Amino acid sequence: MKFIETRGNDGELPSTQVFSEAILSPMCSFGGIYVPESLPDLGTDFFIANRDSNYKTLASNVLAAFEVDIDADTIADAIELYDHFDDPTNPVPVVKVTDDLYVSELYHGPTRAFKDMALQPFGMILSKLAQQRDEHYLILAATSGDTGPATLETFKNRPNIKVACLYPDGGTSDVQRLQMVTEDAPNIKVIGIHGNFDDAQNALKTLLGSAGFRQKLTEKDTHLSAANSVNFGRIIFQQIYHIHSYLELVRQGAIELGEKVYLNVPSGNFGNALAGYYARKMGLPVEKIIIASNRNNILTSLINDGVYDMGDRELISTTSPAMDILKSSNIERILYDLYGAERTRELMGQLDNDQRYQLNADELAKLQAVFVADFCDDEEGKRYIQAAFKKGYLMDPHTATCFKAHDTCRDKPLKSIAYSTAEWTKFSPTIANALTGEHDTHDLDALKSIAKTANTAIPGLISSLFTKPVTQDVVIDKQDIEREVLSFL
Ligand SMILES: *Cc1c(COP(=O)(O)O)cnc(C)c1O
Repeated sequence: MKFIETRGNDGELPSTQVFSEAILSPMCSFGGIYVPESLPDLGTDFFIANRDSNYKTLASNVLAAFEVDIDADTIADAIELYDHFDDPTNPVPVVKVTDDLYVSELYHGPTRAFKDMALQPFGMILSKLAQQRDEHYLILAATSGDTGPATLETFKNRPNIKVACLYPDGGTSDVQRLQMVTEDAPNIKVIGIHGNFDDAQNALKTLLGSAGFRQKLTEKDTHLSAANSVNFGRIIFQQIYHIHSYLELVRQGAIELGEKVYLNVPSGNFGNALAGYYARKMGLPVEKIIIASNRNNILTSLINDGVYDMGDRELISTTSPAMDILKSSNIERILYDLYGAERTRELMGQLDNDQRYQLNADELAKLQAVFVADFCDDEEGKRYIQAAFKKGYLMDPHTATCFKAHDTCRDKPLKSIAYSTAEWTKFSPTIANALTGEHDTHDLDALKSIAKTANTAIPGLISSLFTKPVTQDVVIDKQDIEREVLSFL
């Protein structure tokens, strides 16, 4: 499989790229991103053949269809990592909540959020590629929550990779902070920043754009790469769970093979939804993809009205913070797929210059042929958490946004697969508030309270965080980041 660029080619980079290059060096012409030149058509036979495949076999068959330039041993090693999930025979359980609503739980990995689904195998592949080429890479990450822990977890102690991870001091939950500052490995550095997430992200952008910093990396024989959600090395591992979840419904007798379903995705950077879109294009029987948002509902406006406007919005802090995003990066791949490179470059240029773009009527119709959307505010989300708990299902605030969209977005009586992206342990104060009414509880107290109310146990991976020694205690001002990163290298 070859990769091409969403905003066209500038004549400097090769006009097509192999998978390994696209994931090691994700920067593209005109600020674009890589997309597959074409997708494999899996065909009905693939679904019949994999009807009873376990997760790892399915994963290896899906990846084989992509014909990427990664050797079979490396792919097998990467897929093996799903053995470290709660249930190695099924890393992604699909749970029936009502007759027409099934929840695909993507959070059973080491950091209890869905970022592990892709980052676990991706980290292995990147490190193996770096070793094969005898090259050294620095991954820089800025996180407000789930990406940081999952990035550190996948790269810790992996050869030829170093990771520096910036987080806003005071801007993450206790659990998320502890997951980072208790990580102890010589190749990772966790840096708290005085400021908020935007400060951390802007500091990272400044660093990435600095010629002086790049020069110093070259002197240290280190390449820069990225593990953010536009890296196709993450997207490729996300198609698998959409196909798996569908086949789970078949195996559970909820649908016949070939019957259409809705996929219902709590969305931020749109990596999860994009993978669902690709799976649909590859032949997965999907009616439409439901895009659930919180009050940062820029995706709802795009899909319902054809307008993407960042200029008239401020980012709002919600109880589903992993979806507090205005610039949703993977939308660009949808624009490319539906409207082509020239139009994508035009629309993304408008977004950069004017903070907004508007689709025409034809373009909007194409988008609405695949997607429907709604958003859920914090109060509604809380009520959905309460209602689901009464039915015996404990869920996090991101998942709750899908439960509302399930009620409002379907126009056919088909089954839905909603994706649960975080375990209750990661956003416990919000859930404790929904279940018992308690306010401003710290994570540990909220965890205990939920465990008691729901008669469940706090997973050891989470409870042990509170007694683990803090090994990463650096908190600095933004202007000191470059020095800190260089001294770590
Ligand atoms: C990252 C994340 C999301 C958003 O996923 P995208 O692929 O960026 O749309 C939703 N929920 C949780 C808990 C996340 O960590």
